[in-house]
Amino acid sequence: MALRNIVVEGDPILRKVCRPVDKVDDRIRMILDDMIDTMHDAMGVGLAAPQIGMMRRMFVAEPEEGEIYCFVNPEIVYVDGEQECVEGCLSVPGYQGVVIRPEKIRIKGLDYNGEEQEYEFEGFHANVMCHEFDHLEGVLYIDKANNVVKIEE
Ligand code: ZN
Repeated sequence: MALRNIVVEGDPILRKVCRPVDKVDDRIRMILDDMIDTMHDAMGVGLAAPQIGMMRRMFVAEPEEGEIYCFVNPEIVYVDGEQECVEGCLSVPGYQGVVIRPEKIRIKGLDYNGEEQEYEFEGFHANVMCHEFDHLEGVLYIDKANNVVKIEE
């Protein structure tokens, strides 16, 4: 396992639509492990593959401490309601903004073992999953936020 460099805004890699993963094999699992380590090291709650320079449809998320999700080829199959979310992004360091997200989602995809999973999330969990999913489409929260503010140097 190893830490990966986090790509920051301005790099065109963050603006590309990622390609599906063919198969969840040991190589993919190694990358997922690295992504989890990198997310922990950066004290983030989620990290998508393009943020480490990999144009593949996968992300990791830890909306609550110790509750880690790996999603490969995720699909958001249902959304409901609205919530206002205060978001930041490891690829846009030092900033925060408010984004309107669905209050509830259903998301399916392959997990760390390549097994199909489907979850229903709401509140902060839904917020995190939508943010990470957007990365796979080349979308950053700053595209959707109405008031991005600097929070630190
Ligand atoms: Zn992000």
